[in-house]
Amino acid sequence: MRAFVHEGLPSRVVFGPGALERLPDEVRRLGLRRALVLSTPGQRPLAEEVGRRLGEASAGIFAGAAMHVPVEVAERARRAAAESEADGCVAVGGGSTIGLGKAIALTSSLPVVAVPTTYSGSEMTPIYGLTEGGVKRTGRDARVLPRAVIYDPALSRALPAKVAGASGMNAIAHCVEALYAREASPIVLLLAEEGIRALATALRRIAAAPEDLEARAEALYGGWLGGTCLGAVGMALHHKLCHTLGGSFDLPHAETHAVVLPYAAAYNAPAAPAAMATVARALGAVDAPEGLRDLARRAGAPASLAEIGLPESALERAATLATENPYWNPRPVEREAILALLKNAHAGRPPAP
Ligand code: NAD
Repeated sequence: MRAFVHEGLPSRVVFGPGALERLPDEVRRLGLRRALVLSTPGQRPLAEEVGRRLGEASAGIFAGAAMHVPVEVAERARRAAAESEADGCVAVGGGSTIGLGKAIALTSSLPVVAVPTTYSGSEMTPIYGLTEGGVKRTGRDARVLPRAVIYDPALSRALPAKVAGASGMNAIAHCVEALYAREASPIVLLLAEEGIRALATALRRIAAAPEDLEARAEALYGGWLGGTCLGAVGMALHHKLCHTLGGSFDLPHAETHAVVLPYAAAYNAPAAPAAMATVARALGAVDAPEGLRDLARRAGAPASLAEIGLPESALERAATLATENPYWNPRPVEREAILALLKNAHAGRPPAP
């Protein structure tokens, strides 16, 4: 019989083409008078446009966001926020920029408005991450959860199709792991299945026609659902592997997720048959791991860990790091089986249970 605990996080989402025009209203609604606009160096032009839209409500631009939020970057951004007397931040970009907004909020409680331009889903979670000396530390804190999120599909159109493919697989990974999460509730299961369906449809269309705004909107919608799942339940083996590979071997975040997901799903398939049936149904595939691999390929995402720069000599250490601390997973996490998984993923072989 059904039994579950569900805790919804507070969120305000403004979604649709032209949603960026609503940003000044959203900032005002939160009572902010001077918001610091955050971006990566590459997205500075977009940050400048956002600053212009904010007018007097802009406290300036900090365009120094970097992958995995290095503590030095967080410190510089915190100083910029204090020196500009900002009373909030607007993070415009992917998970790295939103992560920087969270790092500022963590020590100052300044409210964050997120304008996501990838499908990382970070904007929907109270999870933050900071990297120091090559080690990434993550935590949960209600203060870092963005107070408003503006999803404008036109902004994600600049994301190259291949990068969109990898980012979309990252979002699908949140949905897949939510389906077999220990805390999964009926609402989360619905969100996860719909997220996979939306992202799979969108990624196939973006690969064929990168300018297709409707497909970009569908992917952003899937990214939102994936982020909501990530914020609601704990993740398992797949995220642990990607966290280890990204943090210890400096692999790119979304691409690592895209490569590992079919293998993590295959590993967990015998222990999570209902979740796999849902994944297959949402993908329109016969087999979930094979369907995920096929989608990643069609979306132009990399197909092996070798392709994204992991040397074969790193596999033993990666298997040790990913299994040294116990964590929940539907199937027991055993080092030799994880090493076999990593070897398959390294070579890009078909995923095997
Ligand atoms: P990212 O934010 O690092 O972006 C990758 C690159 O793409 C950057 O150079 C960025 O400027 C550029 N970019 C982003 N959007 C663009 C667009 N629309 N057009 C052109 N270029 C664009 O990548 P990501 O995958 O979104 O985020 C990865 C980071 O987010 C990792 O550090 C990961 O750990 C973190 N993350 C955190 C959470 C969470 O809940 N805390 C969830 C997911 C990811």
